[in-house]
Amino acid sequence: MPGPDHIVDLTGDHSDESVSLRDANPPRQRRPWLAVQWNCCRAYSRIYRNSAGAAYVGHCPKCAKRVNVPIGPGGTDQRFFRAH
Ligand SMILES: [Zn+2]
Repeated sequence: MPGPDHIVDLTGDHSDESVSLRDANPPRQRRPWLAVQWNCCRAYSRIYRNSAGAAYVGHCPKCAKRVNVPIGPGGTDQRFFRAH
């Protein structure tokens, strides 16, 4: 009946140290998008807000023409946009 003094712990498994405080960046809100009708190609797609949040940017799925729709004062808050 060995006492605790005779136990050699080789595992090093002190699980209370394994609690990770690292908190991965929580996913941000879903990026808002704007529905775009591309008159150039009569196509339809979504464009997404850019990283700065200042505009919706995207390109035509067929001819790759770019569009930039500003957000905010003087910009648009509409959900549907026609690109020419
Ligand atoms: Zn196009």
